[in-house]
Amino acid sequence: MKTVGLIGGMSWESTAGYYKAINEGVKEKLGGLHSAKIAMFSVDFAPLEKLQHQGDWQGTAKILSEAAQKVEAAGADFLLICTNTMHKVAPQIEQAISIPILHIADATAQALLENDVKTVGLLGTAFTMEEDFYKGRLEEQHGLKVIVPNTSDRKIVHDVIYQELCFGNMLVNSKVDYLRIINELAQSGAQAVILGCTEIGMLVKQADTPVPLYDTTQIHASKAVERML
Ligand code: GLU
Repeated sequence: MKTVGLIGGMSWESTAGYYKAINEGVKEKLGGLHSAKIAMFSVDFAPLEKLQHQGDWQGTAKILSEAAQKVEAAGADFLLICTNTMHKVAPQIEQAISIPILHIADATAQALLENDVKTVGLLGTAFTMEEDFYKGRLEEQHGLKVIVPNTSDRKIVHDVIYQELCFGNMLVNSKVDYLRIINELAQSGAQAVILGCTEIGMLVKQADTPVPLYDTTQIHASKAVERML
């Protein structure tokens, strides 16, 4: 079994989900008392969130590159950055280490294409929904058509992530908003919706909607298990 490296803590609420999903995946494949070989560095999210919203992405890249080096030194064979948003600085992190990164958008695109989904809705932080490192990558590198919510709904989705989900608060009103937005994306032609933020799966479950959901935490973890074994 290969050792998976994780940069966690963004937020720790969702990293706990990664830890569980990766261990469950290994247990399911190998049985018995098998569990996952994981090397993790979990960062302090508060300064990173400040840097993000100040637009100091170089500052975030420096912190995460140092974390990645520690994960590599701890014996990881490959690396997961356990957040969609911070893939904005994946190229800088990649340059700081010699192990490969399993990119969350690539893992998700692969899962969509395996199921013949070509047009997809995307929920995540404003950075993820609006910028080329994520939305653009899905479109240009994987040929997907990506639909995002309108400006005011993007703000709702973004604010709920940073003001509620990253604190572990799942509120009924926010769930109602998310389900409405998911429904509208489907009405605009999305065959499925990407939960493109690693906390959204804590708020919205597949049982809540007939629209197929692609939870990036679960997909990233399951592609990691495939690579480990
Ligand atoms: N975990 C979130 C994501 O997947 C947001 C937190 C962050 O800004 O990293 O994008």
